[in-house]
Amino acid sequence: MIAKVIVDISASEVDRVFDYRAIDGTMRGSRVAVPFGRQTTEGYVIDIAETTDLPQDKLKDIISILDDRPIVSEEFLALCDYMTERFHLRKIDVFRLFLPAKMRGGRIKALQKIFVYINPEYIEVDPNLFIKKSAHSQMEVFEYLLDAQSAEQSYLNANFSAAAVRNLIARGVFLTRMEDVLRTPYKGIVQKDNDIVLTEEQSIAVDTIMSSEKPTLLFGVTGSGKTEVYLNCIEQVLKKGKTAIMLVPEISLTPQVMRIFRSRFGDDVALLHSGLSDGERFDEWRRLLTGGARVAVGARSAIFAPLTNVGLIVIDEEHDTSYSSESNPRYITRDVALFRAAYNGARLVMGSATPSVESYYAAQNGKYKLVRLPHRVNKREMPAIQIINMCKEVTYGNSGMFSAPLVNALEQCLASGNQAILFLNRRGYSSYVMCKKCGYVAKCEDCDVSLVYHKDEDLLKCHYCQRRYSMLDLCPNCKSPHIKQGFMGTERIVEHVQKMFPSARVIRMDNDTTRTKDAHLKLLGEFANGNADILVGTQMVAKGHDFPNVTLVGIMDADMSLHFSDFRAVERTFQLITQVAGRAGREKKQGSVILQTYTPRHYVYKYATEYDYEGFFDKEINILQATGFPPFTEILRILIACENEAIALDATKQAIDEARALAAKHGDRFVYLNAMRAPKKRIQTKHRMQVLMRLKPDSDDIRMAVYKIADGVTAAFPQVTCFTEINPNDLS
Ligand code: ADP
Ligand code: ZN
Ligand code: ZN
Repeated sequence: MIAKVIVDISASEVDRVFDYRAIDGTMRGSRVAVPFGRQTTEGYVIDIAETTDLPQDKLKDIISILDDRPIVSEEFLALCDYMTERFHLRKIDVFRLFLPAKMRGGRIKALQKIFVYINPEYIEVDPNLFIKKSAHSQMEVFEYLLDAQSAEQSYLNANFSAAAVRNLIARGVFLTRMEDVLRTPYKGIVQKDNDIVLTEEQSIAVDTIMSSEKPTLLFGVTGSGKTEVYLNCIEQVLKKGKTAIMLVPEISLTPQVMRIFRSRFGDDVALLHSGLSDGERFDEWRRLLTGGARVAVGARSAIFAPLTNVGLIVIDEEHDTSYSSESNPRYITRDVALFRAAYNGARLVMGSATPSVESYYAAQNGKYKLVRLPHRVNKREMPAIQIINMCKEVTYGNSGMFSAPLVNALEQCLASGNQAILFLNRRGYSSYVMCKKCGYVAKCEDCDVSLVYHKDEDLLKCHYCQRRYSMLDLCPNCKSPHIKQGFMGTERIVEHVQKMFPSARVIRMDNDTTRTKDAHLKLLGEFANGNADILVGTQMVAKGHDFPNVTLVGIMDADMSLHFSDFRAVERTFQLITQVAGRAGREKKQGSVILQTYTPRHYVYKYATEYDYEGFFDKEINILQATGFPPFTEILRILIACENEAIALDATKQAIDEARALAAKHGDRFVYLNAMRAPKKRIQTKHRMQVLMRLKPDSDDIRMAVYKIADGVTAAFPQVTCFTEINPNDLS
């Protein structure tokens, strides 16, 4: 028999099937060790065949099979095919997503402990025949094991006489064996009965989700009890003997959330998140594989939970950008979820208080079923959002970061012993250019996205087409010289706050202060425990946390994400405002939100302050249609990177020439096509070029042809790294 093997080496030259002679027990999905060149490498058997084109003397044997069962199921073999085709990936890069990283290369194994049990030959015999009367400790441990049947040797050593245990083992009265033990996180949390009765709205949502063949979009305001809906659906699925996957953004995987799941499902839930040790991660994964746990809860990668018979997949906060992988292998979690749901006949639900425009559009068109939870469970109103026009502050002579109303509100908040959050809406690396006097923002005339200032060339550029503009000296609108470019940082905000309120205790939370594992949980924990009065932070403070004492949220510079060079910038801003605002006045206390902006008349603020998602959606979808962005087109990018600039240029020329030939054939479906330097022109000494396209929907055939073009570049220019992206979140 011949095994078709994908070897665990990520390089385009070996991204194909290699034939080996199968050994006993080789099956589809087996992980195997194989000889490769002069080394031994791991690989995955994707098929078994009768014959091979390889001559007999070239054919090598599989060295060994690495696990006690095929590790890649039929579903995952099919998923690998789907993902390689859909996202233009190497097979091995996809397989690597399916297993815990440290399992490859045998860097982590099941944790084994020595267990002791009584030799069956001694069980029916009178113990006085082989244990002396004087050996009390031997008799003690023997009687214990007679009752307990088996125990870890370390446990016996600690609780009985270690010498006695040793003696009985040496004499063959006790036998030992190695057994796997599991490293389970949060073991201490016990399962509790659930006494929550669903509201009528929630019941309807559950019924709709469980009966809908199509994916369901659960549109529920913050605090409407979406989590309870998911829990209920999962319970139903488990009762039917099926399994469930629940995805949440990494940043929302707080101890609170994990406690909820463990207390509801006990050992039946496996938690997969970045805070686990490699051993814990491996064991949680293995519990899912072997049926020890039937519910997987985790961030994006938990969509690859090795469950069979999946009955439900939940994508919570479906609008969150973390659901697209932005580095190799690039994939879109929702597409993987759709595949797994279809394969298993499972229900799929995507929930959000601020659905992505794309998903809401799909719901409107009947692709998804829509259910709403328009009311908060505790009936509390959403906090009022007050808009502060920062341009006016400039006129009054205040060009700082804090408006007078925000300073007053902070003072009151602190005086009454409550807590405040100051949110800085910072995204990406780029900076837009704006007039501080009238709020004018420099935009691309063709694309209507904000221009990005490139300091090195002193130029403004559009990241969606190649147009360049010269930097402004005076505002074209009001002739003011107060042109703003660049950021305000969290550090500067903290400095200012401390100058104004020297006795306030301030916590800063941003990428710098949360580098280490679990750092963000520690900071949030300190704030929640009342060890600080003010939390200053970026996006990561926006999500899912409950702080009962927070009565004030200040949004320092709402425009920051609004004018980000991204066609989804306005949508992201709406989502962020709604979410940060949701942090104020969660429980007993009424909260308020102060939003500072230089463009107070921008439509996003009108809809956000009224919490009018639908109004916002209607406006936004029209703009996207007019400008030709997703969901009305698909953005496709070929990115080419190379140390040698001339080679990068040659490779890009080949790609754009072939793309132009393609466009000549299908012109009506190309909305945009061009080649240019990538906005980040160099990363780690590599020159970066891109071919950017926007295609009309249902252009799968063109996308496949574009993938072929990328393959052609890879084949012709081995020094070049070339990959493709669909609707990337960040065109950098
Ligand atoms: P969302 O995820 O929609 O923002 P949550 O699921 O966090 O909302 O629910 C908000 C709060 O309401 C939680 O504390 C939750 O325990 C509580 N809750 C949810 N459903 C009910 C219910 N039917 N009865 C009582 N409390 C509920
Ligand atoms: Zn101006
Ligand atoms: Zn443009």
